[in-house]
Amino acid sequence: MHVIIIGSGVAGVSFAEKYRALAADADITLITQENDGYYSRPLLSRGFTKNDIEQTIILKTFAKLRDNHITVLSDTNVTDITRTQKTITVRHAEQQQTLNYDKLIIATGSKAFIPPLYRPFSELFFCLNSLSDLKALRRVRASLVKPHWAIIGGGLIGCEVASDLAVAGDNVTLFHVMDRLMERQLVPEDSDLLKQVLEKSGVTVLLNQTISSLSKPQEKVTIITDVAQEFDAVIVACGFQPHTELAVQAGLAVGRGIKVNDYLQTDDESIYALGDVAEHPNGKMYAFILPIRNQALWLANHFAEQTSPSWSPPVFTTKAKVHGFEAVYPYQV
Ligand SMILES: Cc1cc2nc3c(=O)[nH]c(=O)nc-3n(C[C@H](O)[C@H](O)[C@H](O)COP(=O)(O)OP(=O)(O)OC[C@H]3O[C@@H](n4cnc5c(N)ncnc54)[C@H](O)[C@@H]3O)c2cc1C
Repeated sequence: MHVIIIGSGVAGVSFAEKYRALAADADITLITQENDGYYSRPLLSRGFTKNDIEQTIILKTFAKLRDNHITVLSDTNVTDITRTQKTITVRHAEQQQTLNYDKLIIATGSKAFIPPLYRPFSELFFCLNSLSDLKALRRVRASLVKPHWAIIGGGLIGCEVASDLAVAGDNVTLFHVMDRLMERQLVPEDSDLLKQVLEKSGVTVLLNQTISSLSKPQEKVTIITDVAQEFDAVIVACGFQPHTELAVQAGLAVGRGIKVNDYLQTDDESIYALGDVAEHPNGKMYAFILPIRNQALWLANHFAEQTSPSWSPPVFTTKAKVHGFEAVYPYQV
């Protein structure tokens, strides 16, 4: 059986390794746009206080996966899925080829969600969603002396990035549209505590902020709310958007993510989806490491016919990696 996995995040790699361990005869191919190896996405938001992050963030090289008899096509983009033929088209360095699958796992993860208001200004801001994003931000930082950053978005990632940049020694202003930070995950008391911790580390926290426009008249980027404020660089951190493009092109059922049943199977019985890209029958997306790894291990066992009950989410909690912050009350997930 030839199993093709698209994506080398925690979903794709955990599945590939577990299935390799369970099915010695299976032909496993993992295809990814990445070039640096399998890395820890949660560590991205500690990417400014750790000098050696570009090396230490790599959890496993692709060579190591290949040593484990997993075929890895890196720096390669899957451009379409032809369900009637059970083939995918891949592109690497202007070369295109077609591969056949018996089962296809879509583990394409997510990108940063950019609210419509900011889309016309995409040249004026950064996101932090991948190792290449982090490398770009670190290059900007290295080119400036004590830069002043604006972070737009006071959710989990925005707060983590603001905290790490401030602790690394930069000036940071955090804009949040709501009246308290991380309002989806924290109770109001913990939102207040988080604000105090960020402010103590030097972050200026601005709540109830409606941004009407961004511009770059000269060197600096101007953010316009009731007033105009200038920054050296801007990061938009307003949530995530699943990479559903391939599924849409293939005519699979897609809502916010790729719709799967309780067996992580799409509406095509040969195609599965897991990780940030999968939308479950209860309408939820489980975009955290623990439940994603759990899905991947469950699916590998299921393929090896070692499980019968359907997948159900494990009990898990999340935790903001903000320097010096510990929530007093449990997080809401
Ligand atoms: C800054 C940040 C901090 C976070 N912190 C935490 C945390 O503390 N705790 C926690 O639990 N979670 C955290 N998360 C969320 C967690 O990292 C994600 O939920 C998880 O990594 C998603 O894994 P995934 O395998 O589904 O997708 P991804 O890691 O996004 O991997 C998707 C892969 O698919 C590849 N791909 C996409 N499209 C194609 C294509 N067409 N062809 C080939 N390859 C393709 C991509 O290159 C990538 O390798 C954080 C996320 C971010 C961005």
